[in-house]
Amino acid sequence: MSPAWVDTTTVFVTGGAGFIGSHLVDLFLQKHFKVVAIDDLSTGSLDNLETANASPNFQFIQDDVSRIDWPGMLGPSDIVLHLAASVGVKKVCESPLATAHNNHVPVELILNAMVKKGGGRFLYASTSEVYGDSPELGSSEQDFLQVHTHLGGRSAYTVSKLYGELITQAYGDAYGIPVTVMRFFNTIGTRQRSEYGMVVPIFIQQALAGEPITVFGDGKQTRSFCDVFDLVEAVFGLSTACHTSGKIYNIGNPDPISILELAQFVKAETGSSSPIHLLPFPAERAGKTDIRARKPDISRIRSELDWQPNTHWQQTVRTIIHEHMMVHDQCVYH
Ligand code: UDP
Repeated sequence: MSPAWVDTTTVFVTGGAGFIGSHLVDLFLQKHFKVVAIDDLSTGSLDNLETANASPNFQFIQDDVSRIDWPGMLGPSDIVLHLAASVGVKKVCESPLATAHNNHVPVELILNAMVKKGGGRFLYASTSEVYGDSPELGSSEQDFLQVHTHLGGRSAYTVSKLYGELITQAYGDAYGIPVTVMRFFNTIGTRQRSEYGMVVPIFIQQALAGEPITVFGDGKQTRSFCDVFDLVEAVFGLSTACHTSGKIYNIGNPDPISILELAQFVKAETGSSSPIHLLPFPAERAGKTDIRARKPDISRIRSELDWQPNTHWQQTVRTIIHEHMMVHDQCVYH
């Protein structure tokens, strides 16, 4: 049985038709919440909401998050999961101004509405980009940040996300609203798309099409990939626990691999004969813009929420390969 407050709480997921947003929508519906997803479909897709659409507890609003009448919509015990943002290295580098705008304007609008309504709970999706390179033990919430401000669109993304964190915490402090900042580290899973520069779907598509797998640099840069199903459980825990407000939490998998290792794994698992090409970094990742090592320290969320990721990256990559083969009906004969 669900606790009584589930009946009086609506969960708003901005960016709800996106990769992570739509998985959050599904999870909160499974937990019997009423869920409203808001998305302008600039990078999200209605296909991601197929399961959700079958639920009477679900509503979708196709609009820009900053055009929503938040004071009219929000109730005093509602939860807002704010994920709507310009994302993906390719996309943010193409439009730094839109990135800066989209990533901070709605935060204040929503928080202002919460002040007016005298309640609610706000969770802000931030990013591991704010750390720059991770030390070997992993980036911790207490670390000093190495925010590069000279990297064009990539900086617009990082700085606007960081500003969103600051505004979130300032509203929490000033008005006593329960707010939580979540720093997501490289999340992967079904529904993630390749158009905006995410490495796992790109490699899988290349391998399935028999095209060269494009590893940038020497391929020794590392990432720690977290399964989206693990991540949404963490977000659920943070948004329903009392002791998590006013704080920042890393959410990720502290198990790094090199990008070359990822390419080799994708090639082997798809049975592809695609060559692996080591290429110079493209313009949007050139110079010092491509992070060399990224790994979360998840001690805080582990000790305070008893959460840790359960899925090995290889298992997630296999699931995504399967999805790509089903969706695109691709066979590998190369
Ligand atoms: N990457 C790559 N080939 C590609 C796309 C990405 O080698 O076709 C590398 C990229 O340079 C980076 C890593 O994969 O080092 C992860 O890139 P992604 O954009 O997925 O995440 P982020 O850089 O934001 O961690």
